[in-house]
Amino acid sequence: MIGFIGLGAMGRPMAANLASAAPTSVWNRTREVAEQHAAEHGTRAAGDLAELADCEIVVTCLPTTDEVAHVAGSLAPLLGEGTVWIDHTSGDPAASRELAADLAGRGIAYLDAPVSGGTDGAEAGTLTVMVGGDAAIVADVRWCLEAVGERIVHVGPLGTGHATKAVNNAMLAAALWAAAEGLSALTSAGVSASLALEAINGSSGRSFVTERLLPERVVTRTFPNTFALPLLAKDVRLAGEVLTEAGVDGPVLGLIQQLTAAAAEQLGPDVDHTALVQVVERATGVELT
Ligand code: NDP
Repeated sequence: MIGFIGLGAMGRPMAANLASAAPTSVWNRTREVAEQHAAEHGTRAAGDLAELADCEIVVTCLPTTDEVAHVAGSLAPLLGEGTVWIDHTSGDPAASRELAADLAGRGIAYLDAPVSGGTDGAEAGTLTVMVGGDAAIVADVRWCLEAVGERIVHVGPLGTGHATKAVNNAMLAAALWAAAEGLSALTSAGVSASLALEAINGSSGRSFVTERLLPERVVTRTFPNTFALPLLAKDVRLAGEVLTEAGVDGPVLGLIQQLTAAAAEQLGPDVDHTALVQVVERATGVELT
């Protein structure tokens, strides 16, 4: 039995895909969400974390490592030796290594296994999974990772999955800020964002931001909230810690971190990450359409 904890925007579809591979119990802080998941996807709703005590594999997809550690504090003492804990949260490398050491003391193996690909990728089961941890454990639970993703990359020892994900998302944020500034200038110069993107997407400046996020979410003015801005700000902050720990001076990512944190503060918790372009739009007085 798999126990899946955290049925948010990512966890809901990931748990549904896991349930196609093995019997899955789901627990969510807001219980009705778990009950609805059970009704829709044939999972079993656990009313209490203790109901996951007999699971051989526990999977978490929570906002940050703080929530994972909190849940582990209640659940880990109840789990059997040999349990594997797969953490799909985009988490904190250092804090996760500490958590992994606590779990190891109870005979529980932890893998940091954050994902990329958004809610569309979660639904389609096509996520990229970047995994840190012991190679033998990764091999044992590879079938679980393949139930949610199509590209499984074992990047290194504990914490390196989280570190890779943090750096990925810092690069995403940098691309968003650069595109917002550049396209605002072009708009002021008389080139619409749509036309500029048509040119750039056939050129060397193109990226996931220019090919997908800006055309689908910004130019359409829809900004659908599938990945909240505070979660991106958290990832960029974690990337800063990765650089600091490695002794790498990072003036560019440092500035991106400050800008993203300020945008999250200004725009509030309930906006999509792409809404950060609105900070540039407000400053320049132009809309990217
Ligand atoms: P959501 O905010 O949609 O969901 C968060 C989940 O965590 C909910 O199930 C929520 O329960 C639960 N939760 C929140 N606080 C607590 C708590 N204190 N104790 C227990 N459970 C709690 O987040 P996402 O699904 O978007 O993100 C989850 C992780 O995946 C994050 O680390 C994020 O950075 C990462 N990620 C997100 C992507 C995206 O496109 N959204 C893409 C790739 C990675 P409740 O229902 O009660 O609120």
